[in-house]
Amino acid sequence: MLDYNHRPKFHEQVTAVIDEALARERTAQAPRLYLGASRLGAACERALQYEYAQAAVDPGRELPGRVLRVFEVGHALEELAIRWLRLAGFDLYTRKANDEQFGFAAAGGRIQGHVDGILANGPASLELAYPALWECKTMNDKSWRETVKHGVARAKPIYAAQIAVYQAYMEAHVPGISRHPALFTAINKDTQELWFELVPFDGGLAQRMSDRAVRVITATEAGELLPRHATTPTHVTCKSCPWQDRCWGSA
Ligand code: SF4
Repeated sequence: MLDYNHRPKFHEQVTAVIDEALARERTAQAPRLYLGASRLGAACERALQYEYAQAAVDPGRELPGRVLRVFEVGHALEELAIRWLRLAGFDLYTRKANDEQFGFAAAGGRIQGHVDGILANGPASLELAYPALWECKTMNDKSWRETVKHGVARAKPIYAAQIAVYQAYMEAHVPGISRHPALFTAINKDTQELWFELVPFDGGLAQRMSDRAVRVITATEAGELLPRHATTPTHVTCKSCPWQDRCWGSA
């Protein structure tokens, strides 16, 4: 039953003003005019098209403040992981002299990626090969345990795709980076446990993702919609898609 007498509690009022400020800040940011290489492993190519085209999300499907805060917590934890790795003796580069992230652009700037870091050296006892890509993610306990159990390629294929694409495109900037396994790092946000996994370069996956990017860009620029990922709007991927109405409304 609807509670018409509900009045926001104090903590809800404060959270609301914070979330409004975060939403304003996000709206003021310059739109991303490229296809993010970190997204190429997403389930649906049509959703990637909407993302690339900056299509407005369905009314009410804007990212809620809580999710914006989740993103920021992830960035803050990533900074901690950088500190921990450096403290342990890793030679980890995360920013250029001008403070920009290392990254790449392809297809005339239509595809771009920004890497978390590049490892140039590390503790001899670990016997890793350098240079190596460093990719860091933060996860809740359930997600982290799935990743530990199955490995990143099976548990988080979108991250595995990102790593493969980054290794491939960064090779021109950091020769040798695709010949050495990437160091994937996952931080458990609930327990602070750490997961490290060496991910060898998967050239086939990188090629499939690169082909996918070309398909998404070409179709979008030609004004064509790629096939849907699902056959029903109630598919689990569609239920969480911010373009669900836009996509299925024209069915
Ligand atoms: S609603 Fe489903 S099929 Fe349509 S773009 Fe979103 S994920 Fe893809």
